[in-house]
Amino acid sequence: MSDLLRVEHLKKSFDDFTVLDDINLSVKQGEAVVIVGPSGCGKSTFLRCINGLEEIQEGRVWLDDEVINPTDRGTMKHRERIGMVFQSYDLFPHKTILENATLAPLKVLKRKKAEAEAEALELLDRVGLASRKDSYPRMLSGGQKQRVAIVRALMMHPEILLFDEVTAALDPEMVREVLDVILDLAKQKRTMLIVTHEMAFAKAIADRVIFLDGGQVIEDAGPKQFFESPRTERARKFLSTFEY
Ligand code: ADP
Ligand code: MG
Repeated sequence: MSDLLRVEHLKKSFDDFTVLDDINLSVKQGEAVVIVGPSGCGKSTFLRCINGLEEIQEGRVWLDDEVINPTDRGTMKHRERIGMVFQSYDLFPHKTILENATLAPLKVLKRKKAEAEAEALELLDRVGLASRKDSYPRMLSGGQKQRVAIVRALMMHPEILLFDEVTAALDPEMVREVLDVILDLAKQKRTMLIVTHEMAFAKAIADRVIFLDGGQVIEDAGPKQFFESPRTERARKFLSTFEY
């Protein structure tokens, strides 16, 4: 399979503080790549660079044959090609679940209402929330809201999905229901980049694991290799702080 995403020599600084230094990574169509690393090592910044939300100082990000360049307003098409789900779901409080799911497809993609609603219902059903279509976000639990946020991202038909610690703000009993939705997407061979601190989940879902530390890719390995016999002392130390 060909590479869908390629990151070449990416360097990202905030003023004179370099967060990401010469990052190289490629993701194939259908791959689930998990990114782990200590807090503050630049995982969120990395996803934001991929999504074109941050200017970068050096290097290139390619999505197929499109260069993602946040300063070039002419090539904003990538925004539709990349879906992102964050820790905070940011649903519109005064819109129903169905409206939240269909808003962007109707406005941005100019889809027909009946068609968008039918698709949203199908996706909501898949995450167990079809019966909540007329509810408002405040009536849902955190885990339910996060599942709606995933549906909302899927409604844009992204070619790649970025997940940034989507369960980190959830109560423990709601983590599983959200991770199961992401596991289901992996079964459907969606291309995904997943930042998570849930190591058992990471091990189960990853085709590959990227360990970021000190602004660099320290390991890029298969899940068995990474979790059972990491090559570097830094990864061993990082993993020893988790139970999985
Ligand atoms: P992670 O997601 O791995 O916890 P982040 O990508 O959020 O790490 O942050 C990486 C580093 O970059 C941190 O030191 C953080 O303080 C810094 N940083 C992130 N965003 C900004 C910003 N907008 N301005 C300045 N520094 C930032
Ligand atoms: Mg982060």
